Amino acid sequence: MQINVLKFGGTSMADHKTWKQVLEIISNYEYPVVVVSATARTTRQLVEAGNLAAKGKLDDALEISASIKERHNKIVSDFLEENPHAKNKLIKDSCAKNTEAKIGKLNKLLTYTERQGALSPQMKDAISAMGEQISSYLLAQCGLALDMMTQHIEARKLIKTDSEYGKANPNRLLINQHCGSLETVLESGFTPIIGGFYGESKDKTVTTLGFEGSDYSASLIGAAIGAQTIEIWTDVSGVYTGDPRYIPEAKPLAEMSYFDATEMAYFGAKVLHPSTLKPAQERNIPVFVKNMFKPEDEGTKIVRDSKHDLDVLALSFKQNMATVTVSAYETVMGYSFLTKVFAVLEQHRLAFDAVNTTEASVTIALSDSEILDQLSKEFIEIGTVTLEREKGLLTLIGCSINKADKLTDTIFSSLGEVDINMISFTKEKRILNVVMDDEKLIETTQKVHNQLF
Ligand code: ADP
Ligand code: ASP
Ligand code: MG
Repeated sequence: MQINVLKFGGTSMADHKTWKQVLEIISNYEYPVVVVSATARTTRQLVEAGNLAAKGKLDDALEISASIKERHNKIVSDFLEENPHAKNKLIKDSCAKNTEAKIGKLNKLLTYTERQGALSPQMKDAISAMGEQISSYLLAQCGLALDMMTQHIEARKLIKTDSEYGKANPNRLLINQHCGSLETVLESGFTPIIGGFYGESKDKTVTTLGFEGSDYSASLIGAAIGAQTIEIWTDVSGVYTGDPRYIPEAKPLAEMSYFDATEMAYFGAKVLHPSTLKPAQERNIPVFVKNMFKPEDEGTKIVRDSKHDLDVLALSFKQNMATVTVSAYETVMGYSFLTKVFAVLEQHRLAFDAVNTTEASVTIALSDSEILDQLSKEFIEIGTVTLEREKGLLTLIGCSINKADKLTDTIFSSLGEVDINMISFTKEKRILNVVMDDEKLIETTQKVHNQLF
């Protein structure tokens, strides 16, 4: 059995018209396993509702919940109206009943949050996973109106994780075991439709895999069942040389390696969740990024060995960054200095994007957050501290070391008056990182892109 895992994101799940397109794409496959996101905007709204409830604004939170219910009911009724079928009354009733039950549960979670006066990570996961729970059930039901044998499969039965709420780690062994059941579903002629982004911990509480985590769900499921392909269907025709929202000249890449795609996602390209490629890579399953509005476009194929002889493959960027520089007091011994700095980062579970060191100082570039003030206070124990905010990170992916001088020349000539805070080149990873003022980041990225591509 040659299984294809197909994942459709929030924009693909926006309204009844895109739902129809999604179902039409699925119907071209013999054994598809489908993973879907929440409908567009829903996850953000759910988190907002949770925050409002925590602040005591339960009425506002419940208003959001009511609007989510209404929007989903409308998508279903519009869909059924445009696709008449004898079963439609039954489908509509079952959808309304299911959505009602989920929204009822959501309202209970919001009420509980208001009473607690805080949104715990566990509660935040339970609330934010509601979008995928609703969308996956409804899409599977709408498939029936097209005479498709779509069947909703609850993601909690498949995606088993630890209890690290907000960014849970999958338990691969258990996922592999539980995904075996999907083959039985496929063999019986049904198409499983599964909500992405969330799963369940050992104690049966809902967990999420982190923002944009549906890509990761698809890849975990694809690896578990040994799929032939994992296909990420989205609103652009693949992975582009740069973010097409900001760089209109950017072009889709025909092919790239798991390695470069991971770096690209990690350094800010929203098109893929950074962990997506790992499970696929382990089982050597090609990952495709395809445009669901232009299915005829080739898209990008991501495979293990993809060589290129370009100076640089693509670029990505991250806004809202900061740099922290710690310079050792003379009393701190050189060999223990870095250990002390990194121990503080570990304590706060803070990941960073780039780092430069000298014998007695270190500059770390990382996403800005409130924690950085606390971090700076702790670093004062080790050395003098300079915290600079409103920074941006530009990353060139898949660079050739022999061309590093050409690349840095291009960057410096594009920068003009812009100051660079930090530059680092990693030969192993073929990455060139440049930290600069955030307000100049987009403009510089556009210039660098258009000179290099
Ligand atoms: P989905 O809802 O399908 O998960 P996302 O919005 O998460 O879609 O990801 C697709 C978006 O990622 C594109 O619309 C595009 O704006 C953005 N994007 C950022 N960088 C890139 C890139 N290098 N290539 C393609 N898309 C990118
Ligand atoms: N709906 C989730 C989010 O917006 C997961 C996803 O779409 O991938 O982050
Ligand atoms: Mg996404």
